[in-house]
Amino acid sequence: MDHILHLKCLICGKEYAPDSIEYICPDHHNDGILDVCYDFDLIKTRISREILAASKDYSIWRYKPLLPVAPDAEVPPLAIGWTPLYKAPRLAENLQLKHLWVKDDGRLPTGSFKDRASAVAVVKAQEKGAKIITTASTGNAAAALSGICASVGQPNVIFVPESAPPAKIAQLLVYNSTVMLIKGTYDDAFELCLEAAAEYGWYNRNTGYNPYMTEGKKTAAYEICEQLNWHAPDAIFVSVGDGCIIGGLHKGLKDLLELGWIDHIPRLIGVQAQGSNYMFEAWKNNEDILTKAPVSGLTVADSISAGLPRDRIKALAAVSETNGAYICISDDEILTAIPTLARGIGVFAEPAGAAAYAGLVKAVADGLVQADERIVVLNTGNGLKDIKNTMTSVEMAGSRPHHIEPNLDTLKRTIQEIRIL
Ligand SMILES: *Cc1c(COP(=O)(O)O)cnc(C)c1O
Ligand SMILES: [Zn+2]
Repeated sequence: MDHILHLKCLICGKEYAPDSIEYICPDHHNDGILDVCYDFDLIKTRISREILAASKDYSIWRYKPLLPVAPDAEVPPLAIGWTPLYKAPRLAENLQLKHLWVKDDGRLPTGSFKDRASAVAVVKAQEKGAKIITTASTGNAAAALSGICASVGQPNVIFVPESAPPAKIAQLLVYNSTVMLIKGTYDDAFELCLEAAAEYGWYNRNTGYNPYMTEGKKTAAYEICEQLNWHAPDAIFVSVGDGCIIGGLHKGLKDLLELGWIDHIPRLIGVQAQGSNYMFEAWKNNEDILTKAPVSGLTVADSISAGLPRDRIKALAAVSETNGAYICISDDEILTAIPTLARGIGVFAEPAGAAAYAGLVKAVADGLVQADERIVVLNTGNGLKDIKNTMTSVEMAGSRPHHIEPNLDTLKRTIQEIRIL
């Protein structure tokens, strides 16, 4: 892997050779997150926009020379990446915008954006010959690791809060992971998973700990820009829990600028739920994210519930260095956005996915975006992952099914009553 120069600590700036360190800079307890630094002169000899235009690999691996894996590394067979970027004219019109796209990562094999990172984790673990991979998760990172491990027969142990939506737990079980349901929060699951990994020597996929997860996640930024013919958008809206996705998008955009493939970096707009708004508060009040105390993390959007965002250093830089913003929305605004997004463009998102759209609605109301800007909203998770909150959201929208007897008379009466014709 001659294209990786070193791993650099985001707190003290110390640089480590990739083989000399596993996960974090040891000088700052669990906070010493590392950034993977590449030799772009070398990379430029291996990949170009022209090579990509001719590539038939419609997955994250089309960007392999930009990823922390060996050129000949075997990759999992599941189709990960190159999710559609839909133009959404009706949603745009409702918001009085001219150019709006929705990128649907709910279409990835296990139904969330996390597949991008877990795919890289599985390749890295197999590179090391790891017997077991582990992660803590609010649900989706676990499901992603579980599914991708299943695709290559890799044993794994998963730590999720007992309160995770049943669909996500079902995914873990169907893929045959060893599942620890933690009687506690995601933050509790995270701490225990770190201890377990250290105790048993398991390969550790944890977000905001394993430096390579950002690398998988940055592929979404590559795709957005490539799908827009390298004409980068003006702003990207994404929901934020631990902050790894927004940090990954930022990394991907910086890579593209460095390569000279785009001419500007879009503003990154991080969307958080009111009960889990650590990054919003820290950004707005200029607080020190190394000492700021955790928040409750309570929200209907389980995937962005994070009392102490693990990737907060990258998440803060993503917004401040791109002249972006954090936006904070209520659970009701999130639930309202689920049917709006589904009806406006046919993308059915779980609460955390719809939160990004709810953030755009708020940004428009607050005058944070201009009518002619080119905006991308990232849906990070599939709506089928959380039917309970979906049902609440459609009740709030006033939608209900009609229970009828199986005959034409009743149907006619019902149709008259509801006046759809
Ligand atoms: C994990 C996740 C997020 C948030 O990503 P972070 O890296 O934790 O900020 C948003 N939406 C969904 C559906 C997720 O699974
Ligand atoms: Zn350090």
